[in-house]
Parts: sequence; structure tokens; C-alpha cells
Amino acid sequence: RRHTRYIGDWSSDVCSSDLLEVKMTQPKPRPTIAEMVRYQPNLGAPVTDRVIRLSANEGAFGPSPKALAAMEKQSNLLHWYPEEEPVELAEKIASKYDLNPENMVFGCGSDELIMAICQAYLDPGDEAIHTEYGFIMYPMSTKVAGGSPVPAPDNNFKVDVDSILDCVTSRTRVVFLANPNNPTGSYLSRNEVARLHSKLPKDVLLVIDAAYSEFVVRNDYSSGAELVDKYENVIMLRTFSKLYSLAGLRLGWGYAKPHILDALHVVKQPFGANRAAVAAALASLDDQEFIDKAVEHNEKWRTWTASKFEELGLNCLPSITNFLMVKFPNDDGKTANDAGSFLASRGIMTRGMSGYGAPDYLRLSIGTEDEMKIVVKNVAEFLRGE
Ligand SMILES: *Cc1c(COP(=O)(O)O)cnc(C)c1O
Repeated sequence: RRHTRYIGDWSSDVCSSDLLEVKMTQPKPRPTIAEMVRYQPNLGAPVTDRVIRLSANEGAFGPSPKALAAMEKQSNLLHWYPEEEPVELAEKIASKYDLNPENMVFGCGSDELIMAICQAYLDPGDEAIHTEYGFIMYPMSTKVAGGSPVPAPDNNFKVDVDSILDCVTSRTRVVFLANPNNPTGSYLSRNEVARLHSKLPKDVLLVIDAAYSEFVVRNDYSSGAELVDKYENVIMLRTFSKLYSLAGLRLGWGYAKPHILDALHVVKQPFGANRAAVAAALASLDDQEFIDKAVEHNEKWRTWTASKFEELGLNCLPSITNFLMVKFPNDDGKTANDAGSFLASRGIMTRGMSGYGAPDYLRLSIGTEDEMKIVVKNVAEFLRGE
């Protein structure tokens, strides 16, 4: 359901008595909020027996069985608030990824941390740069916090460091970079991210959102942790929602210097990392077999799916993540929108890209082997007009 649009009438002081009546009897959100449309992930299940959900970049297999077992053990403790700082989890993450456990903050999904960054660093009129086809939560959270989102044009669906730098003004406070990027699946090399950082003013916060970094198999990629260790103006964000397949539990983390963590702790909710999520995360980090299997499966089936789409005449953007952005023709009955509806009618959920300004594309995540075979078969049938 779309958010009702109020903008225009109640901000003006000349109005009819009808409008006045409405104005007096309804609480009004701030004008920026009233103008916005809520996040629309396409998770509603279509009416078919079997649902193949490839619309939200979730893990293909569901959580590690060890995570489920660990979570269950929390059931008799759920009347107690969780720890404010899950110290054991910070230490486990630190030892796994070679980080400093003192520099971590946890949130109810990394979405909470994105919002907290905006609330902590943006005053009205302050600018937050995001990339053209970057994660939509960046401009949304920027606006909710009262700031102004500034889109930096991509170059052929790839993030362009110079284009970001061209957008920097004296009002820039934050730069959001998803690396790898959602929804395009592309990435910037370690050197390009370092170049971006080196040219930013020291008082601009660079947010490196590495939500998909656990999937990446590339020598020239880095999650950005080394920039956090070295500099005062970088935060890296991570999540248990994607590779670890715990999206339903909502747990994300950030890695930054203490002065940044202090600011975030003031605005974020104190108990964002819940007991069940923390227990599941601890167990997941230990399940290396699950992690290796997820990465290997993803490489294999992303490559397979992209090549099958190419055989069908559909181009995919090059991706190093667990999803693909696929281009459909602009012909009547064959568009991405048509394909999305066709697939939905057969129980396959994908994500339309109109909200991102790329209506010719669908994004779909890599599911199980079985699911990918069904998707390819159905796309072939769609293209043949069956
Ligand atoms: C999925 C995603 C997130 C949000 O992750 P949660 O931890 O589930 O809130 C953040 N950033 C990007 C780029 C994502 O794709």
C-alpha cells in the first residue's frame, strides 16, 4: 500500500475549510516523510503450491543446522534482555576476520546501522552521496534523517570513483558505497576504494557496506577493514542476512573507530542484537563447512545461470555476489515487467528494478540447483511465449 501523499496542501497557509478540517483532525508526518514511499521488497507470496523466492538475495539453503540448534538453546532465556554489547560475538568475529574486537557495533540488521549513521551525521541540508544504482536504503535513510541524498552517476552500471568525487561539496558529510554493490553485483577493487578514500575530505564519513563480501572470490577485492584500522573516517558494515542466511533474525555489525561507535550508540536502540540472533551468529561463524559450501554453490550456480540466460539472448551484468541483474528486451510482452509477472504467476519471485531506475532489468538471487533449473526453464518458456 502506498503511503498517502500530503505534500503541498498542509504546508501552505491558504486552504479551504475542508482541508482545514482534515488538517486539524489528523496528525501529520514531517513533509519529507509524507512524500516518501515505504521500502518495497516484493516478499508477498504468489498463490501457487511452491514458492521459489529469489527476490531478496537471501541464502539458498537456509541457516546452518548448528545455528538453529544454538538458537533453540536460548528459548528459556527469552524473558531476559540481551547483552547491550555481545562481547563474545565481537571476539569471535574479530578472530575469524582478523579485526579488533573493540571496534564493533551491532544492530538489528545492518539496515539499523545505516539509519543510525544518517541520524548521527546528517543535519538538515547536509548531503549524503550514494551511487546511482546503489542500495536504496541509503537515500531513504538519508531523507528520513533530514539530510539530502546526492546520487553519483554510475558508468555503465558500475560505480565510478571520479563521479563520486565530483559530487563532493562543502555540505557532504557521508559517502555510501556498497561493495560489492546491490543491485548490480559489481565491485570496486581494493585499490579503487583506497583511491576514493584518499581523495575524500577527512571529515567525510566513508561507509563501506560489505553485505556480500563473504561471497566474494577475488584477489583484488577487500571488505575495507584495513581502511578502518588505518583511518578515522571509515565504517565497514556487514550482515548475517546474506551468506549466513539469517535474514529473519536481523543481525548486522559495523566496524569503525571508537569515536564513530560512540555517536552510533547514542542514536541506535540499545538492544538491537537479540539473543537468538547472537547465538545463531556465533554458531554460524564456527560452521566452516556450511560457509565453504555456500560460497562454492553460489559460484557454480551463478555462473551456470548467467550462461543459460546468455544462451537465451539475455545479458546479465557481471556479478561477484549471490544475485544477477538480467536485462530483458523492450518489446511488447517481453519486458522485464512482463517477465516478473509471468514468473510470479508460476511461483517464482524476482525483484523488478524500476524502483532503482532500471526498468529493463530483473534481479534474482541464486537459489538451490533445482530452483535455478526451474527458473531457466520458465524464462525460456516466457521468451517463447508459452
Ligand atoms: C541486504 C543488504 C543490507 C541489509 O542487511 P540487513 O542486515 O538484513 O539489514 C545492507 N546493505 C546491502 C547492500 C544489502 O544488500
